Amino acid sequence: MSTDCIFCKIVAGQIPANKVYEDDLVLAFHDIQPQAPVHVLVIPKKHLASVNDLHVNDSAVLSHIFTAVQQVAQSTGIAESGYRTVANTGKDAGQVVHHLHFHVMGGKSLGHLG
Ligand code: AMP
Ligand code: ZN
Repeated sequence: MSTDCIFCKIVAGQIPANKVYEDDLVLAFHDIQPQAPVHVLVIPKKHLASVNDLHVNDSAVLSHIFTAVQQVAQSTGIAESGYRTVANTGKDAGQVVHHLHFHVMGGKSLGHLG
């Protein structure tokens, strides 16, 4: 745990979150400032700052993250209509919280990227 990390504090139960999914390795909760009708964040319970800090040994964490993404999409009703999964890394991507997180957004047409 990183003591000054807001998402570590959510994992530790020190600040509240509206949880959607949890298992031994990951946690999913609603974003506090949703950018879409469904906007959930999926995070590893262990502190990793960003995608840059993922290691080949973190394969279990990554597979749990994407299992959580699937579960969140199912339980929030966007699995069939579609959704976007995004991880911002660093300054140019506008990463604000330096604990790895995957945004899951859907419930409306999001427009095309790229
Ligand atoms: P990013 O720009 O990818 O670092 O996004 C960080 C996200 O975390 C933003 O969408 C914030 O609204 C969200 N966020 C920050 N603090 C909290 C919190 N306490 N609970 C839920 N979501 C949060
Ligand atoms: Zn953290």
